[in-house]
Amino acid sequence: MEYRIGQGYDVHQIREGLPMFLGGVQIPSDRGFVAHSDGDVAIHALCDALLGALALGDIGHLFPDTSDEWKGIDSKILLAKVIELVSERGWQVGNVDITIALQAPKLAPFVEQMRSVLAGILGVSADRVSVKATTTEHLGFVGSGEGCEVWAIAMICRSL
Ligand code: MG
Repeated sequence: MEYRIGQGYDVHQIREGLPMFLGGVQIPSDRGFVAHSDGDVAIHALCDALLGALALGDIGHLFPDTSDEWKGIDSKILLAKVIELVSERGWQVGNVDITIALQAPKLAPFVEQMRSVLAGILGVSADRVSVKATTTEHLGFVGSGEGCEVWAIAMICRSL
């Protein structure tokens, strides 16, 4: 087997009155993410990790926020497009690991659903999809509730 690894990082600003999508799941909240797409910052970081593994650039390059085509788009569609790029080159996902830093609301009740939704799009079982959530103990822009920060790592493999 041949292996590649990639990492992704994304931040979105939080504002009142917007929907909050994370890991393909809508989180009940009176605040959500400012974005050109649906603002799913976890999926965006994951897309960049997958693209990074194959040195294919980043989602800002692939899906420019200046294009109306991607305005308000469901980020699950962006992830499906990224997976298409990965699989058409003969690669499959080994595992992914995502860490979401958000002060509120608590994400623990939604983590299993995120894993299952993401696994479905990635075409792997949920035991290959890790989603972890943390606060920053009220420190920094995450802690003040101004934003959400996500890190993702993806390992992909293919037969030689
Ligand atoms: Mg983003």
